[in-house]
Amino acid sequence: MTLPNLSLEFFPPNSEAMEQKLWQSIMELKILNPKFVSVTYGAGGSTRERTHNTVDKILQQTSLVPAAHITCVDASKAQVDEVLQEYWNMGVRNIVALRGDPKTGVGTEFIANKDGYLNATEVVEAARKIGDFQVSVSFYPEKHPESPSLEHEFNVLKEKIEKGATQAIGQFFVEPETYLNFRDLAVKHGIKIPLLPGIMPVGSVSGYMRMAKACNTNIPDWFAEKFDGMDGNPQEREKRAEETLVNLVTALQKEGVEDFHFYTLNRAKLTLEAAKALGF
Ligand code: FAD
Repeated sequence: MTLPNLSLEFFPPNSEAMEQKLWQSIMELKILNPKFVSVTYGAGGSTRERTHNTVDKILQQTSLVPAAHITCVDASKAQVDEVLQEYWNMGVRNIVALRGDPKTGVGTEFIANKDGYLNATEVVEAARKIGDFQVSVSFYPEKHPESPSLEHEFNVLKEKIEKGATQAIGQFFVEPETYLNFRDLAVKHGIKIPLLPGIMPVGSVSGYMRMAKACNTNIPDWFAEKFDGMDGNPQEREKRAEETLVNLVTALQKEGVEDFHFYTLNRAKLTLEAAKALGF
């Protein structure tokens, strides 16, 4: 089987120690030749400076292609435009345009800033007005927690594409069918942009389960059983995590998927071991 194309996601550091860990991870993962590396934007825009600095450093000190996440939470249109303009001026050409989670927490009602953009669609439109960015957006193969239906999910995705989104990156999922069903339905809805599956490694079982609950990611029984109690046995957990990830990617490759977005959790080892098992 040919090697998959990877993109890698990192989050900005919030301490000196985390900064070192992030850079070590980026340097170790460079070898995978990622198509782009994305840097998240903290809840409520809380990492604006740190995201900016990380993206800048990637641009200045590596040959990697950075993609900067941006959200419209708690920010006016002018503030979002300013950040986008700064990115354009410094040479960033890839943006991940998002609405962001409500400041009051996932699952609560999103209330836009009174002078702000309402959703990701409007952020995409703003980005494309400022520069000829490649704009990635989100998609949710098990639907967004606020979405009433998958139908609505496709309508939102189509709006984002109409405003200029060039590819979409998926929320993480466990079973290959979850992504494949979404992809088939997307084709039926006339969606033609690349839909990159989001691949999340099991770093810690408790962390994974917490995220799955918040993100509407279904945990099948076999998965829960496979990882039950594994936080007490890190060596075995790592083995099972790698096997699970490789099985997922391989199953998707068999169905023609070539591009994958890996959530690295800023931990190079998780991604590197899996990549090695995939033939890198
Ligand atoms: P949107 O695409 O705008 O849609 C989310 C929901 O809002 C829709 O499902 C729908 O219910 C509603 N909606 C949107 N448009 C309309 C409309 N026109 N009419 C009616 N309802 C509408 N969060 C961060 O804070 N920082 C990050 O860096 C970050 N990175 C992410 C990366 C990926 C790949 C993914 C999948 C998610 C990421 N998130 C991030 C989380 C994301 O911000 C949240 O899931 C958020 O709640 C929704 O943002 P969105 O861009 O998907 O919103």
